[in-house]
Parts: sequence; structure tokens; C-alpha cells
Amino acid sequence: MVFDSMETASREELREVQDGRLRETVRNAYENVEFYRETFDEAGLSPADIESVEDLSKLPFTTKEDFRDHYPTGMFAVDMDDVIRVHASSGTTGKPKIVGYTREDLDVWSKAVARCLVAAGVGPGDVVQNAYGYGLFTGGLGLHQGVEALGATVIPIGGGNTQRQVELLSDLGSDVIACTPSYALYLAEVADDMGIDVRDLPLRTVIFGAEPCTEPMRNEIEERLGVTGIDIYGLSEIVGPGVSVECEAQDGLHIWEDYFYPEVVDPNTGDPVEEGEEGELVLTTLAKDALPVLRYRTGDLTTLDYGTCECGRTCVRMDNITGRSDDLIIVRGVNFYPSEVESVVLEFDQIAPHYRIDLRREGSLDRVEITVELVEEFDGSLSDLEGRIRKRLSNVLSFTPDELNLVEYGDIARTEVGKVQRVYDHRGQ
Ligand SMILES: [Zn+2]
Repeated sequence: MVFDSMETASREELREVQDGRLRETVRNAYENVEFYRETFDEAGLSPADIESVEDLSKLPFTTKEDFRDHYPTGMFAVDMDDVIRVHASSGTTGKPKIVGYTREDLDVWSKAVARCLVAAGVGPGDVVQNAYGYGLFTGGLGLHQGVEALGATVIPIGGGNTQRQVELLSDLGSDVIACTPSYALYLAEVADDMGIDVRDLPLRTVIFGAEPCTEPMRNEIEERLGVTGIDIYGLSEIVGPGVSVECEAQDGLHIWEDYFYPEVVDPNTGDPVEEGEEGELVLTTLAKDALPVLRYRTGDLTTLDYGTCECGRTCVRMDNITGRSDDLIIVRGVNFYPSEVESVVLEFDQIAPHYRIDLRREGSLDRVEITVELVEEFDGSLSDLEGRIRKRLSNVLSFTPDELNLVEYGDIARTEVGKVQRVYDHRGQ
């Protein structure tokens, strides 16, 4: 089942829609956003030079710095009178990125999210518990309006309130919950403490987003909660959640290409990579009026697959994001991603799926400290376990962490609201 016919359109049909919408987007950006007019002029280009998505590579990228430099609304292409909602992205440093939507933009966004829900197997009649934060963050309201557009029932509980979340899962028989992957696991723990096994509840799907999630982490969620875990992707600068989603085949996330045009480039050179090769995802909006964005560097690493999916959708699939180029940790000349630590953590039955990474500087030397948590019922040899985890970490990371701490179950702080923090960089402080 699909939400609308564009999801299964032929590639030719899709291309025609993309090209038409791109020309419109470019014209809007050039005529109404000073930043883009200058960008085009500097590159010696006019909107007429961009006739098709194939011409996109002539254009320079848009970066998060561009949003920052034009804070708060310098990237908007319409007057504030036509903006009926704003959101802001949670910048870890500096000012947030402010984004705005016209009524038509909200309609496009709602449809994109409704498509995601249908792809995840959700339909009218289902009850969707929305545990994303409401407010400036795009997650809460973004998901909310998609559920309404679909005609399913939304429970707008928002983030936190975990005991209440468990009660509602049980009392209203929620079929679906939308939350971060780390929160899904926390929810199961709290339910356990309340004497409730989430596996016994009607809940069948977790739609998780806002945090990267490795495959072992997904398996853990599916097992702990007795659900199907569906990954949803998006970012405020482009629209919010709903740019892409996994279908029930769980074999990559379908990007709604008639709304968002994807490219994958080498993060260092900016050159396009071959299909199937990993690189940084670059997105161009094709159906947004208030905030048209051309070639946005997302910082997310992925691959694209134009092959046919068993669900029948023709939209390209991207790999689920397990690393952002920003997340790369560089220590003593060695690079690693937090997701690599996560995959090791999940390999061990004796440790819980929670971890933290602390980076410190002693003198001129960087130190990596990894903390993992024992499962509640652990009763084996601590030193033996420590040795095995150490060995595995050094195999995967290609260096040995300076310190490995094994702490009691529950000692690593859980995140109830917002994104989980796993990396604490104390260097330079
Ligand atoms: Zn599919």
C-alpha cells in the first residue's frame, strides 16, 4: 500500500516532475533570497542554466554555516506574513537554524510524513503515540501532522513522562510509538520496573529517528519490545522528519524524490561518488516555498540504491545513517565513529545497550575512556569480560581505549527528552 501515486511513478515520470519543480525552486531562490542570488552571480550562473537535476552539480553547496550567517530568517524566500510556522534546529554550538513554512509547505511536509507512516505499515485506525518532543524541534509537530493527514489517531504525549508513556501504551493500546532509539530501550526498562513486559502489549512498530541507530541496536529494540523497528530520517533545514523512511522490507530508506532531490558526494572533494559508494548526502528541496534549499550538505554519510524494492516503490533508497561526518572522533591520529563502539557493545550479552565515550586531554596527549554497563543479572568474571571487550574494541577501532569502565546496571544516565548524548569531549576545556 502507498499513500499516493508518486511513490510508484516510473523514473521518467519522476524525472519530469523533479525537473519542473527544480526550475521553479531555483527561480524562487534566485529572485527572493539574496544569498542565492549572490551565489549564482559569483558562479557566473543564471537560473536558466539549471534546467534539469543533471545541472545541479554546477551549483555550489549550501552549508550549515550559510544558515548561521543569515540568522535568523535571511534564507527565507517569502515575507514573514506568508510564514505560518517556524521551527528551529537544535544546534550544539552557536545559534540554532531557524526554518519557516508556508501553508503549502506544511501540506507537503504532512504528505511526506504520511507516506512514511504508510511505508512503515501504519494506516487509518492505528493509534500512534508520538513521543518526539513538541516545540521548536521539528520532530513532534512534524510527525503529529503526518498522522493526522493519514487519518490515524495521534497521542501527542511528547518526550519524557516515561511511566505515563507506558500506561498509555497499555491503556490505549497504541499500535505504534515514535521516539528515539535510545528512548525505546529506556521505555522497556521503565516498563519492566512497573512489572509490564512491553512485548505483551499491542505495540507492533517503533518509528525511530533523530539519532543514528546501528543494525545491532535495531535488533535489540525489536527483541526487547517485540516490535518492528522502522528508521525515519529528516532534518530541519530540509523539512524535518519525513525526508525518507524504511518500508516494511527494512532494506534502506525511500527518499521522497519528488520533494527532495538527493546526491551523494565525497565529503572531502565534494565530487559526486559512483552509485552505491558511500559519501555525504546532499539534498535539494523541490517543493518548498518559504525556505528553498539548493544542494545542502547534510553531514550524513550514506549510499544510494536505485534498484527496485520489493515493496514496489520506485523512489531511491538510502542506507540508514550510522555516522555523521561531524561525529567522527579523531584521537592521536586514529579516526572512529561512536557507532563502531555501539556495535561492539551490542555484541556482548553481559553488557546493557548503553555506553558513553569520554575524551580527555592530559598534557599533550588525548585519552579515550569508554564506559559500558553490566546487565542487571551479571554474575560472571569481571576481569575476563573486561579483557574480551577490550580485545574486541581494539580490533574494531584499531586502537585500545586508554580506559574501559564497567559500571553497574543503571549507572549511565538515560535520556528522557531529546537526543541521547554519548560522546563527552572534555578536551579544550
Ligand atoms: Zn521499499
